[in-house]
Amino acid sequence: MGVSEKSRKILWVQAGGLCAICKEQVITPGTASDDPSVFGEEAHIVARSGGGPRAGGIAEDLINHHANLILLCSKDHKRVDDQPNHFNVDRLRQIKADHELWVRSLLDADKGRSRLVPDPAFAQPKVLKLITRGNPLWNMVKESATFEYSIPDGLPDDDEDLIIEFIDMLKDFHNIAMDLDSVRQNRDAEKMIQSYISRLAEREFLVGAFVRHMLLTGGGSEVPTPWPMLRVEVQPARLAEVADEYGNPYPRQ
Ligand SMILES: [Zn+2]
Repeated sequence: MGVSEKSRKILWVQAGGLCAICKEQVITPGTASDDPSVFGEEAHIVARSGGGPRAGGIAEDLINHHANLILLCSKDHKRVDDQPNHFNVDRLRQIKADHELWVRSLLDADKGRSRLVPDPAFAQPKVLKLITRGNPLWNMVKESATFEYSIPDGLPDDDEDLIIEFIDMLKDFHNIAMDLDSVRQNRDAEKMIQSYISRLAEREFLVGAFVRHMLLTGGGSEVPTPWPMLRVEVQPARLAEVADEYGNPYPRQ
């Protein structure tokens, strides 16, 4: 009886598809017209009876069990068989165990890397919310962990200067939002934002914003951290499309 399909799958997955000795992936890339070439081989740790120095010591029906197999590239398989005094049973078992532990640690390390994923507890915004007052934008600035923006290209200098001033002001407020705890300070921030929205409106610019609710996962912490991301855009009113919260456009007047 040869190596079962199941033993083969377990071996290849636990080895990460890499030779336990040289750590090379045991297939070559395919070409436009050819499949990848497979040069991985399932080598026996304890060899079949009559199979030389590494033979004997375990039951015949365990010879082809995945626990007695080690994934090697064809070159290292030959080397192992050619150098049985060095690559004895104990050494091969150790190489296999170390290799599988190493593969596991790579996968775990990747899991530990932090990444942002959409928070399923919130509907994700499809369109920017039209901002006409200071209060709602200030609340979005306060609740957000990060802040991004977009400024249209090709504007007259004085329009662009005003928009940059507005964005810089929002960024400054975003940086100190945590420290503004009095009602007075919050109200002043709202008014300041309001004044810029009005000045932009006089020049026929609309301000749009949304908060995308993300979760920061991994990075060694078990519980994901809420990570709201604020996006603010300033658009010329003549180019902006106005839509309801589901993204359906309002007919233009
Ligand atoms: Zn190898």
